[in-house]
Amino acid sequence: MSFSRIEDNVTKRIDAILERVRMAQDADLYYYNQPITELRGGARVLVRGREMGMFASYSYLGLIGHPKINAAAKAAIDKYGTGTHGVRSLAGTLELHQQLEDTISSFKNAEAAITYTSGYATNLTVVSTMLGRHDYVFSDKLNHASIVDGCMMSGARFVRFKHNDLDDLQRRLEEAPASATKMVIADSVFSMDGDIIDLPRIVELSRKHNAWLMIDEAHSIGVLGATGRGIEEHYGMDDVIDIKMGTLSKTIPSVGGYVAGKKDMINFLRHASRAYIFSAALPPAQAAAANASFQIILEEPERMERLRANSTQFIEGIKSRGFDTLFTETAIVPVVCGTDELAYAMTREVQNKDVFVLPVVSPAVPEGLSRLRATVTAAHEPDEIEHAMDVIAEAGKKLGVI
Ligand SMILES: *Cc1c(COP(=O)(O)O)cnc(C)c1O
Repeated sequence: MSFSRIEDNVTKRIDAILERVRMAQDADLYYYNQPITELRGGARVLVRGREMGMFASYSYLGLIGHPKINAAAKAAIDKYGTGTHGVRSLAGTLELHQQLEDTISSFKNAEAAITYTSGYATNLTVVSTMLGRHDYVFSDKLNHASIVDGCMMSGARFVRFKHNDLDDLQRRLEEAPASATKMVIADSVFSMDGDIIDLPRIVELSRKHNAWLMIDEAHSIGVLGATGRGIEEHYGMDDVIDIKMGTLSKTIPSVGGYVAGKKDMINFLRHASRAYIFSAALPPAQAAAANASFQIILEEPERMERLRANSTQFIEGIKSRGFDTLFTETAIVPVVCGTDELAYAMTREVQNKDVFVLPVVSPAVPEGLSRLRATVTAAHEPDEIEHAMDVIAEAGKKLGVI
């Protein structure tokens, strides 16, 4: 039996997206959703039967597959199985969850912490639980989609300020009613550009205007600060962020998200945020893996040093080959190509030489700034980085990007 096609807006949306996908596939320019079939050490993967250098990973410290983390996950499965008895508030909480939250609060120098099953869900639920209609939320233009979605879901007045432009934030804070409830939100390290928020200034402005300050540390945990504790450590500041958000899916090789902060705020979220109350707890293996990972960041500081050296080598090398890398200071290195088509074509050329990079195109980034969003990790060897940069430069010359 077959159903007739309904010609409505849903069908139109489906067709519009699939048309874009088909065009890219027909031109051999589609590189999304490729399965990895094997890991070959920390920085190489098998894709389409070919071993490739991985330059698109979020595993900044190269912790995926770390023996101690794997062992912690396996032990948790042996002890608790693979699932939980439901949501955290009811029968889903394990001692492991409490241990993980204690680990996070001490790692982040906070009174308490709460975890959720994804970073995306964390931002969505935390912003929309804390804010409501008549409140004001001030969000950097380049903040992650999960923050944007949380702001919109909250119903608060959604004010976007120019990227990392705190004069603009100041003007917008001054324009809002002094009596209004306010929150300021920014990524610590911006996920597409790799630059770092001006924390001292954003703290000062938030305090002056009685605004809550929320910082998303998805790309700064294990990346910034001498011991990898993140943005406050990077600036030598002590517990100045009200809502310290982060993910357990990037440097921490697990899944989930967290918020750390004052006890009362965390306890409030435990009893009011819908992603905690209505979505199942983190599975035991993932909670245990995350818990072990924070310990390893502190125990193996040489990983931080390697990440820093590798980031410097990669940024300097890509720049010296003639590319624009915007304002990155971290392991996220935008290699600006220009048009969407050029970014796709660069990807094809580079992947054909067994270097795994991926394009980011509009509307995820502004028109004309489509790019390879390349990343480097602590697991790369200096000669692998040099080789990848040569491959990228060769492609750039062939296509006229440099
Ligand atoms: C990846 C990311 C998230 C979402 O985290 P997940 O754990 O992947 O859901 C949130 N914020 C930023 C800045 C991110 O880069």
